[in-house]
Amino acid sequence: MQRIYFDHSATTPVDERVVVTMTEYMLEKFGNPSSAHSFGREAKAAMDKARESVASMLNCDPAEVFFTSGGTEADNLALIGYALANRQRGNEIVISNIEHPAVKAAAIELESLGFNIKTAPADRYGEVTLEALKSLLSGQTLLVSIMHINNEIGTINDIERIGEHLCERNITFHSDAVQSFGKVPIDVRKMHIDMLSLSGHKIYGPKGIGALYVRDGLKLHPRQFGGKHEAGLRSGTENLPGIVGLGVATDICRQIIDDEASRLTELRDELFARLDEKLDAITLNGHPSQRLPGNLNITFQGVEGEALLVALDLEGIAVSSGSACSSGSTKPSAVLLALGMSEIEAQSSIRITLGRDNTPQDIDYASRIIVDSVERLRRMSGN
Ligand SMILES: *Cc1c(COP(=O)(O)O)cnc(C)c1O
Repeated sequence: MQRIYFDHSATTPVDERVVVTMTEYMLEKFGNPSSAHSFGREAKAAMDKARESVASMLNCDPAEVFFTSGGTEADNLALIGYALANRQRGNEIVISNIEHPAVKAAAIELESLGFNIKTAPADRYGEVTLEALKSLLSGQTLLVSIMHINNEIGTINDIERIGEHLCERNITFHSDAVQSFGKVPIDVRKMHIDMLSLSGHKIYGPKGIGALYVRDGLKLHPRQFGGKHEAGLRSGTENLPGIVGLGVATDICRQIIDDEASRLTELRDELFARLDEKLDAITLNGHPSQRLPGNLNITFQGVEGEALLVALDLEGIAVSSGSACSSGSTKPSAVLLALGMSEIEAQSSIRITLGRDNTPQDIDYASRIIVDSVERLRRMSGN
């Protein structure tokens, strides 16, 4: 059976070139970057190179890049690390109502530590606008964390406009860019971003590696203590294969970012056009145009999203209902509910995220299977 992977926002296959380089740094160049001998120096040089790759993708200094165990740790370190180190500057933290659980849960943790959390609502397209944020800002605002691209609906926030405003008001700005890094251009200087999270496994790199960009001069309280690795911000012998892998994955993204963005936008629009032509009562969730190139989030009226996921899986097509992070639960997506959708509508939705391995043939095959499955499920439920 043909298998088609349409869940690239959950994770991606690791690029073969990444695997080859990682293998080299496990089998031969396996030194500890802290060691003074040639094995250690070789490892340190590779780590420096990966740091430069990430920095040049963000337009920051390599010394402003700190490797972590992934996007979740980067988000936690940004919010909790910054809040704990800068308590004297204010007590209020502003996030949006569609942040990833890694940001939401870090904010809840801060609430239990005495911080006041304010939540900006996304509009019906899933955009968190500067206008929605402004009314929540005060002299007590310590930190604002707004994601660049939402992982479920793919809406791209205008973080440059938000960053400009926060910079003028001297408020620190963090953005979770796990879904955008390597896929759409990011310039932390131009966008006035103070901290930014990214992850390896969403960009054809390995799982368990990520990074936090921290603007030079910002103080963060570490979450992990020991041998003062990563400038004391994140102790523990560095995940060298993971770091090297993230570096290679980043370099590959940089080479193809524009071509891949337009290719995926075209495939995405073609897939939606075909579904929309053949099926009644479907709606695209998120922003019509300002969205992640490979993302579709669609409500199929009268169809249980979970049932559609299973039906497609039986045909070899992997999609997601709600976000992968909350799958296993049958709760409707918190993001879709936050956009004002009813529970029924939210539960009738699936997310399709295309990636590097998808082809126009995949779109042909999948559009036929999705149309057939939706029609069959609607007939079965008498819709
Ligand atoms: C996947 C994801 C994360 C978590 O990254 P991990 O590396 O899996 O911990 C955080 N934020 C967003 C928006 C994500 O999509």
